Amino acid sequence: MKKLRTRIEKISNIKSASAIFDEAGAIIREGSLVAFPTETVYGLGANGLDADACAKIYEAKGRPSDNPLILHVADRAMIDRAATVTEMAERVLAAFAPGPVTVILPKRDEVPPRVTGGLSTVGIRMPDSDIARALIRAAGVPIAAPSANRSGRPSPTTAAAVFADMEGKIPLILDGGSCRFGVESTIVDCTGERAEILRPGAITREMLAEVLGELAPPPILREEEAPRAPGMKYTHYAPLAPLTLIDAPREKLYDAFCVAVREAAENGKRPGVIVSRELAEALSALVPSKRIAVYGDAGDLSAMAANLYESLRYFDDADADVLFAETVEEAGLGVAIMNRLKKAAGGRIRFID
Ligand code: AMP
Ligand code: MG
Repeated sequence: MKKLRTRIEKISNIKSASAIFDEAGAIIREGSLVAFPTETVYGLGANGLDADACAKIYEAKGRPSDNPLILHVADRAMIDRAATVTEMAERVLAAFAPGPVTVILPKRDEVPPRVTGGLSTVGIRMPDSDIARALIRAAGVPIAAPSANRSGRPSPTTAAAVFADMEGKIPLILDGGSCRFGVESTIVDCTGERAEILRPGAITREMLAEVLGELAPPPILREEEAPRAPGMKYTHYAPLAPLTLIDAPREKLYDAFCVAVREAAENGKRPGVIVSRELAEALSALVPSKRIAVYGDAGDLSAMAANLYESLRYFDDADADVLFAETVEEAGLGVAIMNRLKKAAGGRIRFID
């Protein structure tokens, strides 16, 4: 792949940035890639109706080509161009679009199989981010976009994180600052009898159940989530140093981290921790501050989600060679956070009763 010069354009005000959107829209229409912010994470966008353009996404990410892409749209007309909207999807869209939800729908012929990994269905999302919508409007086509990270790495929630992974591979990154939610959209399959959540996100099961009634039950234990299985083949969102999650009752959490940190140090390792502010303060006597990433106040799930991927990426250059992270309760937004953390940890969890 030819090495490109990657430009970052800071967008502070949509209205005064129309020249940049015109240029970015033209880049998309010409079949090249533009990274852009959304309210979830940064996306790596291509013309979603152009199979060759979408092939460049897989190449830039190093992503397996059977992994389908999500089409990002700016309005209802674009949805109808790409998919057949089921009654179930109507309700999800009415309640949560624009926003951090993706609906899986039967695709129309105009969507190339390359976008959907050969499936007859397509994922559609209408982002709420002004920058994302302005880009889609400027391009005039649905934009296929996965997260703008190299395959397997934590998703980017800042333009700097996109640059770290995509420098030389894409011509343009639109910089809209940090993403509000910080975890990818909730994916809801709306093609069957009952709606099924394929990926948890900021639109929670409880929120969906309010508009849909009963949902398909969550998978008991998908292969990639089997918690104690070693050496799982599935890696995703992974920091460079191996990560272990520590799952302990609140009153035992500090001790559990002390044990893990001391053990690692005795084995000649330099442990880093990803924890709530409260635990960070308690651990400050034991762990140097440069090896502590704080992902928010304990219990503040929104802050934890928003800071999760930056916390994982923080250790790329922070001189730690093993990582330990605090877990959260798997309810509400905590389901999405734990889904990402378990994958980032490749299933390594230390349970303390
Ligand atoms: P990412 O692009 O990294 O946000 O991940 C997109 C994910 O959306 C894929 O890994 C799939 O799990 C899911 N996805 C997209 N399109 C479909 C589809 N047609 N059917 C099922 N899952 C889909
Ligand atoms: Mg991704």
